[in-house]
Formats: sequence, C-alpha cells, structure tokens
Amino acid sequence: MLDVANIETYYGETQALFGSSIRVNEGEVVSLLGPNGAGKTTTLRSILGLTPPRSGRISFDGKDITRTETHKIALMGIGWVPDDRRIFPSLTVARNLQIGVKKTRFKSWDIDDVFGIFSALEYLMTRECENLSGGEMQMVAISRALLGSPGLVLLDEPSQGLAPKIVQDVLRTVTRLKNEGIAVLIVEQNALAALEVSDRVYVMDRGRIIHEGPAQELRENEPLRRKLIGM
Ligand code: ATP
Repeated sequence: MLDVANIETYYGETQALFGSSIRVNEGEVVSLLGPNGAGKTTTLRSILGLTPPRSGRISFDGKDITRTETHKIALMGIGWVPDDRRIFPSLTVARNLQIGVKKTRFKSWDIDDVFGIFSALEYLMTRECENLSGGEMQMVAISRALLGSPGLVLLDEPSQGLAPKIVQDVLRTVTRLKNEGIAVLIVEQNALAALEVSDRVYVMDRGRIIHEGPAQELRENEPLRRKLIGM
C-alpha cells in the first residue's frame, strides 16, 4: 500500500533523512519508533508532500506520489493525524469534522460510521473545540481523518499529552481501524504502547532505519528492545 524507498530529505541544506525505506501493507499497523530528532516526523512529512525528498521514491496504492501536492495525496486516500492535532478551537466539533469529509477510492466514511467507532463523539458535536479535553481533541482529530475515507492513516505521536488510560483508549482505536481494513503508520515516543497494537515495527536513529521486524519480537525480546529503544 505504501512504499517509501531510500528517501533523502533535507531542511534547507541540513539533511534529516539518509536513505530511509519503509513499507506498509494493506490493512497493516506499523510503528515507527526512535528518539527525539530521529526523523520520524520528517518521514511523515515526506510521505505527505510537506517536505518532499530530494531523492528516493514514495508510492501509495501503486502510484508514484514523490512529488505530488499534499491535497492531492489526501484525495488519493492518505489520512493524517498531526501531533499538534490542528483542530480549529473556535469552531464546533461538527464544523471541524465537516472540513475533513472527502471521497476516495477507499471505503467512504460518514458521520454515523465514525459514531460507531467513537460513540461519545455524538454528544460533543455542538461543543466548541477549545473546551474539549486532550483525549476528546484526539478523538476529533482521528475522526476528521476517517471522514476523509482513507486507505492509510498516518498517526503522529497520538499519545502526546494524554493520560495513560486515554492512551490505551486511543491505541485500542488503532486496532478498530485495522479491523475496518485501514492501514496505519504510527509514530510514537511511547514505544511500549505502540508495540502492543502493531504488526511490524521500524526503529530510526539519526535519520536512518536501524531495525525492521515483527512487533512481537520487540514485545517479547527485552534485551533487543533495550538496545534499540532503551526500554
Ligand atoms: P521528535 O520525536 O522529537 O518529534 P522526530 O524523530 O520526529 O523527533 P524530526 O522532527 O523528524 O524527528 O527531526 C529530524 C531532524 O530534522 C532533527 O535533527 C531536527 O532538528 C531536524 N528538523 C526538523 N524540523 C526541522 C525544520 N523545520 N528545520 C530544520 N531542521 C529541522
């Protein structure tokens, strides 16, 4: 579904990615882990066309998207949940969600489908987003991505700023998306939580992929996990 092949991405003259390659298969949950500054967000920005790579190739759903504009990438079926969530605080939940509605070649999501995943959302629709809790904001951000009818969702640090119990709820949602046939690429600092819901994992350090394998291996092999991600 997503094939990121050997990309090199720069900010001005500063190189952030040194030939990273990542694959996400249809309906698969993949985690991208690594310390601060490893290049995880830059990888997502490269996929989304926000910081296109100087070399290498990115394809999605069989099409080359390496230099495709961001709004076209969204219409092709890649949903994005940014780490800062990018919700309009003065607008209601309903208005924020309307902004995300799109049709793609993948399953179309409407608001009732989203209520099927987040039942609590129904009672928040008329609330202004500035009054929501962090967990509720995250629910709105994921729902907005779902209304874009994605085949793949990129989740950037979904646990950021959330209480541990809410982190569990958010990550359980990932499994529900998978059950709906949506592939998910999660960038996380909270590696243990991400590993619980992932099929495969990549570990990055200083702009390079230093490990690739089944998530189960890192869940069960503590010495390897300590070596790679320090926990
Ligand atoms: P974090 O978990 O802290 O967000 P990350 O793994 O997502 O880290 P990136 O944000 O992708 O890492 O950063 C990768 C490298 O690119 C870092 O060295 C960072 O300083 C640099 N970088 C990121 N954004 C910019 C920018 N806008 N301008 C210049 N350099 C940047």
